Amino acid sequence: MKLRSRRVGDYDIAFLFDGMFTTGTDSLVHANGPAAQAKMLANCPGATIEFEVNHFALRGPGGLTLVDAGTGPGWSPLLGRSWDSMRQNGIEPADVDRVLLTHLHFDHARGLLDGEKPYFPRAEILIPSIELAFYTSEAARLVLPEARRSAFPITAAIVNAYGPRIKPFMPGEVLPGIETLALPGHTMGQTGFLLQGNRETALFWADAAHMAETQTADPDVSTVFDYDPKLAARTRWWLFDRAVEENWLIIGSHLSDFSRVRRVGRTYGISGA
Ligand SMILES: [Zn+2]
Repeated sequence: MKLRSRRVGDYDIAFLFDGMFTTGTDSLVHANGPAAQAKMLANCPGATIEFEVNHFALRGPGGLTLVDAGTGPGWSPLLGRSWDSMRQNGIEPADVDRVLLTHLHFDHARGLLDGEKPYFPRAEILIPSIELAFYTSEAARLVLPEARRSAFPITAAIVNAYGPRIKPFMPGEVLPGIETLALPGHTMGQTGFLLQGNRETALFWADAAHMAETQTADPDVSTVFDYDPKLAARTRWWLFDRAVEENWLIIGSHLSDFSRVRRVGRTYGISGA
């Protein structure tokens, strides 16, 4: 695995590889209904899709911050390499000052836990306040089908393990030079982070897209992992347009490298940066 790291502003950013996520093409849904769905699937070669799962280390003001925490061991044989990736990058659990979460899905938050215990003995856990409210709500849990509820027990275990080290945050500046960007749809509280550098601005866009080539070409393609596929699609249209206008350096949990969005005809494309 090649080393994927880069300096932006006052921060050194490194990819931490957690593994591969594989699922059927029936996990893709089209925001415009069944006919659009059928046409989209007719264009998909093969029966499966796969994408990387990554999280990130940020070294800079305030010490060592992780953006998300990976899956942690024992979820699936293809995932859960994040702790090894941290070690390969010279990171021990006690070195981590804080973990900044984009949202509470298992592949972003479960790596906080070593069984029922905190994996990071000192770190503060910064969670978007809307996201934390949603995934600690019994009413919200009941709205979702059984198969989409795994973030609720994971959130409860994290809250139980970390107690007062859980720090919900409101929109605004979360670290020096790093501002939140609301990206609702995938989850209601999904939050991106804009890191302002001298020459460029980086955006951690979390799960704004899982299949970035497919979804930049057609932002109305969502996945069954999106809580509200239509809202996720609207967020993508807005986000891709801004990403081109601002020439943001894109860092996505399910992208394989630092990337940039470009305009292609009436939609978009993505390439390495
Ligand atoms: Zn994800």
